[in-house]
Amino acid sequence: MLSESSITQEQAFNCVGEGWHSLIEDLYSYITNMKSTVAVSTIKEKYGILRFYADIQTIHVGKIEEEDRDIPYFDEEIGLFNKFVQNKESESGRLCEACGQAGTLVCEKGWWKTLCITCRNEGS
Ligand SMILES: [Zn+2]
Repeated sequence: MLSESSITQEQAFNCVGEGWHSLIEDLYSYITNMKSTVAVSTIKEKYGILRFYADIQTIHVGKIEEEDRDIPYFDEEIGLFNKFVQNKESESGRLCEACGQAGTLVCEKGWWKTLCITCRNEGS
């Protein structure tokens, strides 16, 4: 679940280009379905790639069954979450940040950006 101190999905949309909003939606719906409480702390684009930082705050125990107490679901869940974030970050390197079409990571005038051919031509 999403922590109350977290960056909200609406705020997250403002941190990156529209082409990456689908990635943000995927990440937030993943967090919503987690047992742990997650606070998204930083979302930015660095060297043309999405960077997504989150703090795992507490375990949302909820109605935990007696026999479940020893199951290390917490570590497992965090491991899976980290992998999910990594996958979305690398996906951003193939998705035009401006429009969401298939893009490639290019370096223009010293700035790394993931853009499709159309947006790349518009920019130059
Ligand atoms: Zn584009």
